[in-house]
Amino acid sequence: MQGTKNVTNHCDINSIVKRYNTLKVVLPKEWTEIIHKNIHRRNVSRSININVIFKDKLSEFSMCSTKELYLLLTSKLCQHPICYKKWTEVFEIEENDLCKVWKNVNFYWKPSILMDLDFKIAHYCIFTNSKLMTMKLINYNVCDVCEKEVENITHLFLLCSELVEFHLFMQQKLSVLFDNVDSDKIDNLVYEEVFMFGLFGSIKGVNVSFVNFMLSVVRYCIFRRRNLLKNLNSNVDLIRLFKYTVKHYITYLYEYLCDARCMRNVFEKHFLKNNILVQETEGVITFNF
Ligand SMILES: [Zn+2]
Repeated sequence: MQGTKNVTNHCDINSIVKRYNTLKVVLPKEWTEIIHKNIHRRNVSRSININVIFKDKLSEFSMCSTKELYLLLTSKLCQHPICYKKWTEVFEIEENDLCKVWKNVNFYWKPSILMDLDFKIAHYCIFTNSKLMTMKLINYNVCDVCEKEVENITHLFLLCSELVEFHLFMQQKLSVLFDNVDSDKIDNLVYEEVFMFGLFGSIKGVNVSFVNFMLSVVRYCIFRRRNLLKNLNSNVDLIRLFKYTVKHYITYLYEYLCDARCMRNVFEKHFLKNNILVQETEGVITFNF
């Protein structure tokens, strides 16, 4: 009996009218006008035209490709991460350029430990001492490396006085890679921005993926040295740590891609092409770091 009563309540005409009126309130005004004007009978077939605005152009929904539909959906549903705003406050970088950073972050053969750090940097979510202090987890915000200035993300990776020599070393390595490259893009590069996010797009005569890989290793080494000092109070020579780490990963990828996976073309493209810092002679990798 209970069941029957529920069914009757569910079909109660007053209840349907009430719910119909509630629905009408939330619908766009034009839709309710259509509902009032056009009475549709179930036995008469009709097609409904739905139009969507895609790239500022009105197009028929049924003509949209799957890709367009997903782009439409993501543009409506997705929010840009807060880091774009944060980074545009630090550098004079366009948000459109920052959007390209994820390709560098998630480069497919990049070791996961580098990917992890680059993801945190791109998201502006490195737990620097100033951040940890704001979170009341430590009671100081001064850098553990130089012990002089407040440690925020730019101090940690770029401005610390204990990094001066290292950045000069890196600038020299980059200038070697950009030597004899005839492109307007090189002239417009800002070292600090390239250092933090890598190069975007391609530059004729430059092995962009190698430069980005090398910079990932560099950032990782800076962060690792900082953590060693912070947590274990032991220091390392940053240039030596970088040389060791970059050689370690390249040798590993050489073995892995060329021997184990028969992906020699991938190694050649990303490590050897247009690169005088890494060369192969008679099956042996030599480094000019
Ligand atoms: Zn410092």
